Amino acid sequence: MTLTNINVSLKVDNLTKQKGLHMGKPALELTGKKFGRFTAIERVEKPKNTKQSAAYWLFECECGERRVRKGSEVARVGGSCGCLKSEVNRKAMKKMQLEKHGTVLDRFLSRFKKSHTGCWVWESHTDKDGYGILPANGPSIRAHRFSFEYYIEPIIKGNVVCHTCDNPSCVNPDHLFQGTVKDNCNDMIDKGRDKIIGSNNNKSKLTESDIPKIRGMDAHNSVIAAVFGVSESTIKRIKNKTLWRHVK
Ligand SMILES: [Zn+2]
Ligand SMILES: [Zn+2]
Repeated sequence: MTLTNINVSLKVDNLTKQKGLHMGKPALELTGKKFGRFTAIERVEKPKNTKQSAAYWLFECECGERRVRKGSEVARVGGSCGCLKSEVNRKAMKKMQLEKHGTVLDRFLSRFKKSHTGCWVWESHTDKDGYGILPANGPSIRAHRFSFEYYIEPIIKGNVVCHTCDNPSCVNPDHLFQGTVKDNCNDMIDKGRDKIIGSNNNKSKLTESDIPKIRGMDAHNSVIAAVFGVSESTIKRIKNKTLWRHVK
């Protein structure tokens, strides 16, 4: 507290005394009034360890905490139990972190290079299995999983995200598909062609640009299937968007 502050609060206290404390009335009627996050509940005895004969009040903070404070001071500057301060600190910290490291997306986008093979190769830290590590605002996440969720769809709880390119550091969403833990990624690539999203699956007969065409065609699915050299069920699933979901 600076000297001026003390002078001000002493002045206010003197004022409140003159106004009525000595007449047996509350110095200032604060009950029910709100100052910052505090709402005054009732006038209370001054705390034992204080010498000032100011009027003390019990305040309830918006967060539910209760505190005894000098009424004149709270009325003048508002107050909180301390939660406002920690909230402001948290926000300031978050802002600082953001300025320093950017958002998770910024970080993701700045940490891979597109290679001539089509892979987006992670250029930052990788784990022991070669998967890219993306620092997030909590625990770090695997970069290919972030990519999959950002570009394609949410990962179902417990599912794994596999690579069709067999390159764990790749974060190209077109090279990723999700499967259950029971599915072995390699088995799925071998057996389940139609589970694999994107044209980088080298056995895929379709490319991204075919998908809007297929979805826009009115002909019978068997006809479209014949045109593109794929099965009728593939066409059906492209149309109902269980396949090639990432293509709009
Ligand atoms: Zn509070
Ligand atoms: Zn790849």
